[in-house]
Amino acid sequence: MRWHRSARARQGRVVLSDLVDLVLPASCALCHRPGGPLCPGCRRVVEDCLHPAPRIAVPSPCPPGMPQCWVTGEASGALRAVVTAYKDEQRRDLRRPLAAWLTPALRTAVGDSAVARRALVGRGLIIVPVPGSPRARRRRGEVPLRPLVASAVAGLGGRAVVADVIAATRVTRDQSTLDARERASNLAGAMMVRERHLPALRGAVCVVVDDLVTTGATLAEASRALREAGAAEVLAAAIGATRKRADADRTLPRGSP
Ligand SMILES: [Zn+2]
Repeated sequence: MRWHRSARARQGRVVLSDLVDLVLPASCALCHRPGGPLCPGCRRVVEDCLHPAPRIAVPSPCPPGMPQCWVTGEASGALRAVVTAYKDEQRRDLRRPLAAWLTPALRTAVGDSAVARRALVGRGLIIVPVPGSPRARRRRGEVPLRPLVASAVAGLGGRAVVADVIAATRVTRDQSTLDARERASNLAGAMMVRERHLPALRGAVCVVVDDLVTTGATLAEASRALREAGAAEVLAAAIGATRKRADADRTLPRGSP
């Protein structure tokens, strides 16, 4: 019960901050000067983190079962700071620009896969935001990735449904302090498809979505859970991936299929 009260209190703060945003001119989330959610200068710095066209992110080392993952940009400096401000500093007004940067990766992931293209105009694509850890969910009182993914999917067209089909099976350690091998073992078997979604998953085409990709452990574990539940194809998309990961050479013009 204590948890419910604290989550509700946090949600109350979110609503209050939304109201304040309506009354007061928002400041830039990065430099805090007037003009939100990002001032033109900071927006340019963030856009410098974006690739000319979405790329396939290949973590090094690549975790077993890592799905093919398209990203729009590099998860460095400014782009990472914007994602952090959105998720942890209550800057929910960043949802729209972040969604606009996620959409090209999502669109390219779908456009690059014949089965995903067919699903988009046929039985439907299932877009799966990665579940936050129970610890992160308690801290934030919500899952900020979900509305961001929903906004990005709106730009996709066709039959794409955002669904929280994956749940955490156990408590995991904070990933940010772990190296690639520790992250993989920390997350091994840590996710499962919720029972009520199992019928819809059989033979489905899924796109797992995260905000930023570091070691790929989260996407690999989510993909394992979806495949084990019977998904026929699992792809992935994210706004950015960390620089030290080697990117594949394949690129497509932004905005294709
Ligand atoms: Zn700024």
